[in-house]
Amino acid sequence: MREKLKPDLFTFVAGVAVERNEPLPITCNCGGVITIMPPLQEQVVVCARCESRIKILVLEGDPGYVFGSDPSGEPMLIPVQGSSKQKLDISDEERRKALEDARKRFGSTKKTTKKGRRHE
Ligand SMILES: [Zn+2]
Repeated sequence: MREKLKPDLFTFVAGVAVERNEPLPITCNCGGVITIMPPLQEQVVVCARCESRIKILVLEGDPGYVFGSDPSGEPMLIPVQGSSKQKLDISDEERRKALEDARKRFGSTKKTTKKGRRHE
């Protein structure tokens, strides 16, 4: 039995994509693509390219992005695979705003309660 110590990954998938009942490509961190077929029978898929185990977390609806944090604790936006193009296609400005909101909501260590907006 070969046991590889690959870190387990997880990915978010939009509920709308699962309901579409069409093959759904999941992109791994390594760039490999695993196509899954709804209804999801397996919650964990294995990337053929890097052999990572990827856990699939289905989120209801068409969320676009969810918040996560990078290893340093900074908030980041994680794309929800299978979300609609208009939800995923956000501008840098929208991305920046979303991350700023995330810092305000989740950041308890840093003071982010500055009032007033920057005028550009
Ligand atoms: Zn991979």
